[in-house]
Amino acid sequence: MTSQRTRERLLGRLMDQGIQSMEVLDVMRSTPRHIFLDEALAHRAYEDVALPIGHNQTISQPYVVAKMTEAIVKSGPMDRVLEIGTGCGYQTAVLAQLAKKVFTVERIKPLLDRAKKNLKLLGLRNIEFKHDDGSLGWAERGPFDAIITTAAPRQIPAELLEQLADGGRLIIPVGGDEHQELKLVRRVGSEYEEHILDRVRFVPLLIGQVQG
Ligand code: SAH
Repeated sequence: MTSQRTRERLLGRLMDQGIQSMEVLDVMRSTPRHIFLDEALAHRAYEDVALPIGHNQTISQPYVVAKMTEAIVKSGPMDRVLEIGTGCGYQTAVLAQLAKKVFTVERIKPLLDRAKKNLKLLGLRNIEFKHDDGSLGWAERGPFDAIITTAAPRQIPAELLEQLADGGRLIIPVGGDEHQELKLVRRVGSEYEEHILDRVRFVPLLIGQVQG
């Protein structure tokens, strides 16, 4: 069910789809995705699909996690990384093994609590959590070398751009429900260079109220 063979098959799929960074592939190989899922779905943990985690949210598709992580790892330093949309903490776990320090913000309290538990179980301690509206970033902890947003706003929030260090990168899906583009934005002084990496589908980034 969660055998080494099903995990290796997933790794093969990621490589077939163009993921090349050995660093990222090694971390994806050694991160148990099944612990982030409810028991009833754990047998599907190594399929390359997004799956429900409750509260109308999903755990990201492994390919998308790999693609976003690779884009960030390849493009510069990883000392301070901010993630918006912790969910159950899968992407956080991958990041925490590649970055010095990860800051992560989630608006749904029970999901954040579950993520804390999962990440503790994996022994990952270089993570700071916040229950808040992540569209505002986390100004007190910035500037960041990289910011990853795992939910899609219609437009890039100005706060996230402002909290990038010089040379810092923001990776973010942007768009409405059916069409989103995964963008990589790099800050160069007061300029922002934008590249489109892929077409993706994420849950919306909800602006405003947090959920208890
Ligand atoms: N990173 C997760 C993906 C979770 S899905 C993974 O690895 O699987 C996206 C998450 O973004 C959801 O948990 C959702 O509640 C959260 N989210 C949406 N809008 C948000 C906001 N404004 N601030 C913080 N989190 C938000």
